[in-house]
Amino acid sequence: MATTLTDRLSRLVKTMRGQARITEDNVQEMMREVRMALLEADVALPVVRDFIARVKEKALGQEVVGSLNPGQVLVSVVNKELAATMGEGVADINLNAQPPAVILMAGLQGAGKTTTTGKLAKHLIEKRKKKVLTVSADVYRPAAIEQLKMVTKQAGAEWFPSEPNQKPHDIALAAIDYARRHYFDVLLVDTAGRLAIDEALMAEIRDLHATLNPVETLFVVDAMQGQDAINTAKAFKEALPLTGIVLTKLDGDSRGGAALSVRQITGAPIKFAGTSEKIDGLEVFDAQRHAGRILGMGDIVALVEEVQKGVDVEAAQKLAEKLKSGSGFDLNDFLAQISQMKKMGGLSSLMDKLPTQMTAKAGQPDMDKAERDMKRMEGILNAMTAKERRQPSLLMDGKSKASRKRRIATGAGVQIQDVNRLLNQFDQMQGMMKKMKGGGLMKMMKRMGG
Ligand code: GDP
Repeated sequence: MATTLTDRLSRLVKTMRGQARITEDNVQEMMREVRMALLEADVALPVVRDFIARVKEKALGQEVVGSLNPGQVLVSVVNKELAATMGEGVADINLNAQPPAVILMAGLQGAGKTTTTGKLAKHLIEKRKKKVLTVSADVYRPAAIEQLKMVTKQAGAEWFPSEPNQKPHDIALAAIDYARRHYFDVLLVDTAGRLAIDEALMAEIRDLHATLNPVETLFVVDAMQGQDAINTAKAFKEALPLTGIVLTKLDGDSRGGAALSVRQITGAPIKFAGTSEKIDGLEVFDAQRHAGRILGMGDIVALVEEVQKGVDVEAAQKLAEKLKSGSGFDLNDFLAQISQMKKMGGLSSLMDKLPTQMTAKAGQPDMDKAERDMKRMEGILNAMTAKERRQPSLLMDGKSKASRKRRIATGAGVQIQDVNRLLNQFDQMQGMMKKMKGGGLMKMMKRMGG
């Protein structure tokens, strides 16, 4: 796992103690580290060069104040410049047009256009209260039309049928006519994935653009594309007046450097980020937060928000009361904790948001296995009676513990050892809970946030 930029710079800074200013002398070496960090995050080389030149200009002569060291000051300059380059604030979808507002989706095959079209339909229905129609102009792959039909249904939007023997131009006209007559607010047009070098296909999407006069032309790009993103972005920018970018697959393990490349090449704002394969895996893009990810500082802000969102405050309070009154942590609480974890998107979703230093320390545990274990535990807990969950002692030292455990194991479809392992874990957790008595959870969250 890569070292973070902050780590790298701190190491350097030790060699230049006592320097109160960022100078031409000390900036050189620090810039080399910044460059490495950006390249490791897969930002395209020409973009890195431009970026470094701007940072250097801004950093030179900066006072190093208070308890900060020159490395930290530089990290903050880099971070600010990154966020500024990627666009400050958030840019939502523009729908200022005579209805239906048309949104054209463009991008390479496999970038995530169809999936994103479905996610966007859901977003517009739920967040903007719009009546949404989708249509596929991908006449080359019948499966793509079916795929759009499916995600449209999941999104709760309406799908306009199209056939492989039609011309994209005619599909566009028919869909827009239908949308007008049925008072749709928005028409989302999914297009065939094309390779930038395919001139015929690029001409086709230009024609679609002229026919539809879209209010938004979104360029969908895969965050895992890395260095290649720059060439794709260039080709699409030359072909179409792009109004926004959707960066997909940010849930993968890339540091998302493509964001910087694509933004700089197209000049268009990044509007959304795809964060899972599921219909609700779309987030409004947050440049500031993403700057942290590129620099390897982790998505602490997101983690804290997730934790707060997932925690059922009432349940947490009840648990705290229980601990205070000394009635103890029982297996019902254990089960409740597992379902809270699930609500927060499971373990791997939480791990993704941790800074790389933290996950590196944890030695990259096998997340799939951890998720499976969690499911198994839930199954075992559900196979117990309410009384057994309330009184775990029945299973640990009660007279009928062996027969009870056998019954639970059969019910959950696991081995007796699995039940024993769970009881052991519970025992350890109970010990931990006792120690955390009195606001331990809140303290832990504060520490994470600060
Ligand atoms: P298209 O060819 O551009 O229409 O791409 P698709 O929408 O068919 O997506 C290609 C693949 O990427 C599919 O397997 C999707 O499930 C997957 N995909 C799309 N967006 C995301 C995302 O944000 N995260 C993840 N993990 N997978 C995604």
